[in-house]
Amino acid sequence: MDVQLKLGNIHQEQTELVVLNHWQDAVQLNEAAVAVDSALSGQISRLIAYGDFKGRVQETALLYADDAHPFKRVLIVGLGKEEKLNLEAIRVAAATAARRVRDLRVNRYATVIHGEGHCGINPADAAQAVVEGSELALYEFRELKSEPEEDPKHVAEMTIVVADESKYAEVQSAVDAAHKIAAGVYLARDLVNLPGNYATPTFLARRAQEIADELGLVCQVLDRAEIAELGMGAFLGVAQGSEQPPKFIILEYNAGRDALDTVVLIGKAVTFDSGGISIKPREDMDRMKGDMAGGADVLGAMRTAAALKLPLHVVGLVPATENLPSGKAYKPGDVVRAMSGKTIEVISTDSEGRMLLADALCYAARYKPNAIVDIATLTGARAIALGDHAIALFANDDDLARRFEAAGQATFERVWRMPLFEEYGERLKSDVADIKHSGGLPGSAITSAYFLSKFAKDFSWAHLDIAGLVSTTTDKPYTPRWATGLGVRLLVQFLRDWSART
Ligand code: MN
Ligand code: ZN
Repeated sequence: MDVQLKLGNIHQEQTELVVLNHWQDAVQLNEAAVAVDSALSGQISRLIAYGDFKGRVQETALLYADDAHPFKRVLIVGLGKEEKLNLEAIRVAAATAARRVRDLRVNRYATVIHGEGHCGINPADAAQAVVEGSELALYEFRELKSEPEEDPKHVAEMTIVVADESKYAEVQSAVDAAHKIAAGVYLARDLVNLPGNYATPTFLARRAQEIADELGLVCQVLDRAEIAELGMGAFLGVAQGSEQPPKFIILEYNAGRDALDTVVLIGKAVTFDSGGISIKPREDMDRMKGDMAGGADVLGAMRTAAALKLPLHVVGLVPATENLPSGKAYKPGDVVRAMSGKTIEVISTDSEGRMLLADALCYAARYKPNAIVDIATLTGARAIALGDHAIALFANDDDLARRFEAAGQATFERVWRMPLFEEYGERLKSDVADIKHSGGLPGSAITSAYFLSKFAKDFSWAHLDIAGLVSTTTDKPYTPRWATGLGVRLLVQFLRDWSART
């Protein structure tokens, strides 16, 4: 969808449909609605007065204008209660409108910036939320359908109408940024939606190279022999059961600009996780094509960071492999040597993600980063502890944790900090090796993070466990089924905040 910005008044827009909003249970119409209402001879006032529209979240009402007006339809979307307004409510309102517009088969529409100027929300942030909500809501994945859609519905253009000339420039740059952020989320969703036989480690490496070519990043892809040469025995242990060659993908933005702060993002990319020899039950195993979502998030965030030209040196590391059982696969009880030199006793071959991350954390040291962040579908225990609404955050640095808490609030990809008490380490003591990679079920999101912390000791480090959050089986306002792309906006916000603060 093309997003345009225009200075003017919504009631004078020449378009197929205009989107307005209304606060829940408000008696008065807002300024834009008043102007349109008089053009519609009081239809909106009557709609509200008769109680046919309450302004609830996700509620819409459609009205028609006669031929004397430049617009044909008016869509009113509920903004919810005024005192509950935040950026998320704006995203949801914009998403609700965009979906309704698509269902009406309307091609072009114009919208106000929902909520601007209320509850301290500035027009630029509100406009960003409008674009994010609209674009993310209209995402579709049809790449593998051989027949064209029978009755295609596509919105070609959304025009955002700005009434206040003094806000135009800042709204314009917010709209541009939002479009780049949505593109990053689209990329991650595409990669997560693609099944394991398409989105192989080799495919991810190729996508990374394309991003690099497009935006002028440096991309390097290490193959099995190079990975072995570096001594990444933990990563290779996982990869040895698969016929698909593993790839260690390195994407670097602002390479060589020594004056800039350096942040390393690490994304787990297990392109299909069967569990290996410790095989998973067959139920829902198809969902394990999404076990590369952390890697997809890192590629999406890198693409957006570069498109936004953030003044930051960002390195993306994506260790990519399948995890399959075979005659060559690593086994429970095996001991492998990680790049750091530590020996690791394998307990369950389904705890493979931390093996990739352990070696990537060690590799990250060469950049002498100011911070390392890893993001991974790491543990089912994340979902047991926090359900559907919070990413599990672990950090060895309070300032870094606070940065993620703030970015989580801003994007609504909220994080909840979990402990890394030393005592959790007891469960990882091994009789035969330096460390066990799994401490069994109790607190396993924590013991898994604790395992990672042993490879991140020398750095400011945060770990984001997104297991169970990367796909949804039901449509959400701006997240259609299946891949959510969750994590991209959080990482981008974190990077934007960092570059604004330093
Ligand atoms: Mn696994
Ligand atoms: Zn996994």
